[in-house]
Amino acid sequence: MSLKLYNTLTRKKEIFKPIKKGHVGIYGCGPTVYWHQHIGNLFRYIFEDLLVKTFEYNNYKVKHVLNVTDVGHLTSDADTGEDKIEKAAKREGKSAQEIANYYLKLFINDFKKLNIKEPDIWCRATKHIEEQISLIKKLEKKGYTYRTSDGIYFDTSKFKDYGKLAKLNIKGLQAGKRINIKEKKNKTDFALWKFSEEPGVRQQEWKSPWGVGFPGWHIECSAMSIKYLGETFDIHTGGEDHIPIHHTNEIAQSEAATGKKFVNYWMHSRWLLFKGEKMSKSKGGIFTLSELEEKGFESLSYRYMALTTHYRKQLNFSLELLEASKIAFQRLKNIISELKDDKKTNKKYLEEFREALNDDLNTPKALQILWKLVRDENAKGKFRTIKEMDKIFGLDLLKKEKVKISSEIKKLVDEREKARSKKEWEKADELRRKINKLGYFIEDTNKGVITRKN
Ligand code: AMP
Ligand code: ZN
Repeated sequence: MSLKLYNTLTRKKEIFKPIKKGHVGIYGCGPTVYWHQHIGNLFRYIFEDLLVKTFEYNNYKVKHVLNVTDVGHLTSDADTGEDKIEKAAKREGKSAQEIANYYLKLFINDFKKLNIKEPDIWCRATKHIEEQISLIKKLEKKGYTYRTSDGIYFDTSKFKDYGKLAKLNIKGLQAGKRINIKEKKNKTDFALWKFSEEPGVRQQEWKSPWGVGFPGWHIECSAMSIKYLGETFDIHTGGEDHIPIHHTNEIAQSEAATGKKFVNYWMHSRWLLFKGEKMSKSKGGIFTLSELEEKGFESLSYRYMALTTHYRKQLNFSLELLEASKIAFQRLKNIISELKDDKKTNKKYLEEFREALNDDLNTPKALQILWKLVRDENAKGKFRTIKEMDKIFGLDLLKKEKVKISSEIKKLVDEREKARSKKEWEKADELRRKINKLGYFIEDTNKGVITRKN
């Protein structure tokens, strides 16, 4: 069955054709590790996880690379402002690498909570300075660079198709006079290497052929993706905010350096909104997974919520919406927990499920198929079919939950057992209803009675 993916470059859904049969290389722009990643950031990595797992489900061998920005990302996505990591280091009185390690650890922990598979390769910008310098040297040799008082810049007017990904109106951009371009030749030019204002003051700086400094934000992704996946690779992902600047610049510098097409398929997930605006640190109204936990939402309820929307649609987050997802998810798990394994799978449902996924990761549809299956009284093979589906959903649908049972419930369960042993069925049913009403759920198995929370 073919796999269709929406390609930002062509603005079309296309049948995926790998460079090497049966293999796919995926590079995703990872976090800037200067603070907690909020659930908006994590929304993007749930999308990436679905992409990787969909390829695996289709028997592809996946090589998944995710970068970690631990230097060079300035407080504005352009080339101004402070380095986010250096700023955090000052704020917290730690070294830049302590900051990066700490927030990366928290990030990976969030991956675990959300059942997001870690990439095959995590690559850090600070560990690939040489590769970045050598890519800039290549660009310099080919005449794409120039020097200003604060760094080495890429001259975007020399790259023929600059802005093709975002379909930027370059003339319009150049004509508008509001952006202060200082010594830049064109508004869209960007820094490849920035000089340290005062060498010795920054924590992270390196020697280069042009002077002491640090790499610009965009060059790390070109250098590392080429290193691990080759000069042309299959898929590059990111959030929708990456299209006009970061990915546009990645394409320009990579293709200028290699003379080859950089990436075949560009995929972007849309934003998680809060009160109609992008959830972001600067606007407030953000949540971390731990904050949601404190409010009584387990992380997988959040994953469930993310699956109810398509990655190319923005989702307006609210605690009410999350509450509704939590209830639906719990109901789903309760129904599933009643199922017995008949050692079969249901081909018809699996086929439908794969079709939905292979249609540009249509997870809302895939979830509907799951719900249809659990409600279909005549369907065979439910247990194993759900197990297969959960390889993608990652919701631990078949995991038995352990809950603490209060003594009041235990007493009712015992009473019900006694009634059953005396064949007092009505009384036993009455007690079961009482237990259900208190929010618990009992299951009679050959290993005895199991009590779970509703
Ligand atoms: P950052 O750590 O700021 O570099 O962001 C990491 C990733 O999260 C980027 O790929 C962004 O596109 C993505 N991102 C940031 N905010 C949101 C949001 N509200 N919804 C979805 N993705 C986001
Ligand atoms: Zn990137």
